[in-house]
Amino acid sequence: MRKRAPHMADDYAFPKGELMRGKKGLVMGVANHNSIAWGIASQLAAQGAEMAFTYQGEELERRVRPLAESIGVKTMIPCDVTDDASMDAAFAEIEKAFGTIDFVVHSVAFANKNELKGSFVDNTTREGFLLAMNISAFSFVDVAKRASKLMPNGGSLITMTYLGSERTIPNYNTMGVAKAALEASTRYIARDLGPKGIRCNAISAGAMRTLALAGIAGGRGMIAQGRAFSAMKEDTSMEGVAGCALWLASDLGKSTTGEVVHVDAGFHMMGMPDAEEA
Ligand code: NAD
Repeated sequence: MRKRAPHMADDYAFPKGELMRGKKGLVMGVANHNSIAWGIASQLAAQGAEMAFTYQGEELERRVRPLAESIGVKTMIPCDVTDDASMDAAFAEIEKAFGTIDFVVHSVAFANKNELKGSFVDNTTREGFLLAMNISAFSFVDVAKRASKLMPNGGSLITMTYLGSERTIPNYNTMGVAKAALEASTRYIARDLGPKGIRCNAISAGAMRTLALAGIAGGRGMIAQGRAFSAMKEDTSMEGVAGCALWLASDLGKSTTGEVVHVDAGFHMMGMPDAEEA
């Protein structure tokens, strides 16, 4: 029997506690109950964080609102990261709601479906390349600029990436290039904002069953391969990804910045499959 997908925070085995008590922040990129942003937000809420959500557009609100309300999120703001006016309005509302913030989780990416399959060389267009870069990489720089103005006491910026930035993964194509830019941006942001006490890190998660993965040709195969060729021979868990985000968002993450942390059951460091798998 298929395991029921978690719909509410309580369905995950998230540790409860006080690590985020008194901290306020923004989570960008909850689309539904499978979203990585939702798992992370649930974990941060279980540790006492106060949060605002941004979501891509009105049509997602129906799915996102009940999730947000289930963990006490009162501020929900539609926000398209490609639209300056929308970003201006979103950050104005966050400032109005919270004054200052302590963390941002940026869990946003997009590339055209027809560029996430087949030949990278043949299928990549100028428009598609720039769109993927704009939504999946530049938006984090833009978020860092805006969020840092609301972080007078320091803070933590976290983004989500994937191994396709470092190694070639079939069909990941344009998104791999955008993730490479996102990871480099993470380091430059960390350098710029470090003196202000603002840390900036990326979590490189293994393949997980979400809407974004469904857009990649053979996405389910990425999960199976990720499991089969991982050191631990298991799927990447939401608990593991959200736990990493908790470490980085809380004071436990002090002194860690400019880092890309792999949470993928050890898939990233395997040089060759085991002999019997080859
Ligand atoms: P998801 O589809 O649930 O989340 C992607 C989010 O990006 C959605 O909420 C979507 O609304 C948002 N988005 C896209 N375009 C936007 C725009 N113009 N403005 C504002 N928001 C926009 O899927 P997910 O897998 O949870 O993805 C979250 C992040 O995790 C992405 O950066 C993704 O690349 C990364 N990631 C995913 C996996 C995986 O296997 N699912 C692995 C590693 C990293």
